Amino acid sequence: MALRNIVLEGDRVLHKKCRPVTEFDSRLHQLIDDMRETLEDADGVGLAAPQVGVLRRIVIVLETNVPEGEEPYMIELINPEITAKSGEQNGPEGCLSVPGRFGLVERPMDVTVRAKDRYGKEFEVSGHELTARAFCHELDHLEGRMFTQCASRMLSNEELESGSWMDEVNS
Ligand code: ZN
Repeated sequence: MALRNIVLEGDRVLHKKCRPVTEFDSRLHQLIDDMRETLEDADGVGLAAPQVGVLRRIVIVLETNVPEGEEPYMIELINPEITAKSGEQNGPEGCLSVPGRFGLVERPMDVTVRAKDRYGKEFEVSGHELTARAFCHELDHLEGRMFTQCASRMLSNEELESGSWMDEVNS
């Protein structure tokens, strides 16, 4: 496994639509393993292939809604599609490609995704709250869409720390 460089905002690769994965081979597995290592190293909750410069429909999301005492685990999604969504949440969202900046983004509270695993087998998975947000955020990357384009506005560090954005989203 190897760490990959995370592409930063301003790079055109982040605004391109990704192609579906068609070969579920060792090369794909190597890429996914590298993405897992890169995500863990960056301490993030999600990573999409274009963020490591690969224009393929692959994302990894960290499932943090786990029973007490259990470790969060990574969900690998190949050629993912949202099949259901409900509810809504509004709050700060960030991105490993946009370090240190956060914006207010409205997302569904619950999201179900259908995808393939690294062997090409189809499955469905549901995410709540942060996981639902991460599914939407990472799938947007596959369309070349950044959270900065979906944010109602960006937040200053002061607003983020004071939590004053909460009044805004609750009003
Ligand atoms: Zn991102």
